[in-house]
Amino acid sequence: MSRRRLTGKRHLSGYKACRNCKMIIPDDAESCPNCGSTDFSNEWNGLIIVEDVEKSCMAKFLGLTKPGIYAINVS
Ligand SMILES: [Zn+2]
Repeated sequence: MSRRRLTGKRHLSGYKACRNCKMIIPDDAESCPNCGSTDFSNEWNGLIIVEDVEKSCMAKFLGLTKPGIYAINVS
C-alpha cells in the first residue's frame, strides 16, 4: 500500500478563482465580491489565506489589499 503525496496542484471543487484579483469564491457567485469582476477561472492552484493584509508578506507580494482566500496561480 502506498500513499501518494499531495502535490501543489490541487483543485477545490465548487470554487473558482477571480482572474483579476485571484480571490477564491464559490462557483455559484456571479461576480467577485472583492473587485466586482466576472472573469473567473477554474484552473488555479496554490492557496493563501490572508487574515491580516498588513502583517502578511505574501499578501504584499501578491498585491492583496483585503483579507480573504486567494489563489497563487490563476490560468
Ligand atoms: Zn476579483
